[in-house]
Amino acid sequence: MSKHDYYEILGVSRGASQDDVKKAYRKLAMQYHPDRNKGDAAAEEKFTEVGEAYAVLSDPDKRARYDRFGHSMGQGMGGRPSGGGGHGSFEFDLSDALRQFMEGGMFGEFFGQQQRGGRGSARVRGNDIQIKLPLTLEEVSEGVRKTLKVKRLRPCDACKGTGSAAGSSATECPTCRGQGQVRQVSRTILGQFVNVQTCPQCHGDGKIVANPCTTCSGEGRVRKEETVHVDIPAGVSAGHYLSLRGEGNAGPRGGPAGDLIVIIDEKEHEYFERDGDHVIYKLTISIPQMLLGDSVEVPTLSGRAKLKLEPGTGPGKILRMRGKGLPAVNGYGRGDQLVEIQLHVPKKLSSQEREMIEKLNLSENFRATGNEKGFFERMREAFGQ
Ligand SMILES: [Zn+2]
Ligand SMILES: [Zn+2]
Repeated sequence: MSKHDYYEILGVSRGASQDDVKKAYRKLAMQYHPDRNKGDAAAEEKFTEVGEAYAVLSDPDKRARYDRFGHSMGQGMGGRPSGGGGHGSFEFDLSDALRQFMEGGMFGEFFGQQQRGGRGSARVRGNDIQIKLPLTLEEVSEGVRKTLKVKRLRPCDACKGTGSAAGSSATECPTCRGQGQVRQVSRTILGQFVNVQTCPQCHGDGKIVANPCTTCSGEGRVRKEETVHVDIPAGVSAGHYLSLRGEGNAGPRGGPAGDLIVIIDEKEHEYFERDGDHVIYKLTISIPQMLLGDSVEVPTLSGRAKLKLEPGTGPGKILRMRGKGLPAVNGYGRGDQLVEIQLHVPKKLSSQEREMIEKLNLSENFRATGNEKGFFERMREAFGQ
């Protein structure tokens, strides 16, 4: 096997803690375990490689030597001595990797998922189901109880989930004696190796259905459309999700059900935009309102509310209505409603309006004292004109 960097193989940094190394190994070993990748040679190789990297990096002595010398770190690195010494590299093969996996206490965890049924019979868990749930900002603001229609596999009523026709029952699988897995023990000069695989006859069920139920063809589960209630807490955002335990697909023949995962989405709002816990509302006012001030009503998530415009509230100004935003999802406090002022500018003026505006324009108070004026005045002063 070609020698890649052990840290790279596990995807951890050189300074990674033992705990991080273990976590990384556990994740990869689960992923590439031969039982989950039947006949996939690449996965098998990867599993071995990951095992080898872990064998070295999980042992402080070996890790220290590897850090100093790399792959040519010499004899006695564990695994098995490579036939008679030679250049002293470290050999580690699939059976080493499998043994390590079991000795590392990962075995129970790996098969634990399929053994929830207990009493030795292996039960396969049903899949999770994901559903997107679009909410209005009003619903997010208050929290809401939703009723979802879910198409999912549920236990078959005709056979009560067993998969066997009425009057018959499943028998223990003779190949694995109900264990759902078979072990092959091989004794070699280097010790005993145990290889564990899902039983080829019952595919992990531990039982054989001789006389299948006609309603579900022996699956023990059928597709149904059912309603599920879900309580959405206030303050959630798009991408948040809730897991409803056991509300997903039922497992085959009495296996435990997976979860229903409800993913929150947000509907676009007619008036409001969301900015975290704040909501933004754009309010268009008139030129007289801008100059004279006014008291107006604006929509909020909890109905209409009064808002005071001080004289001189120009476009671009943002007014804050405290506590009129969305609640924080952790339950502490509420955001604000931010009212962004926009100005209504009439496209056409009547002759009467034009007269009035021209009068206003004579007033010094209405003159914009911009940079240009200052510039020309400064020029005049500078050149004495
Ligand atoms: Zn059935
Ligand atoms: Zn079996």
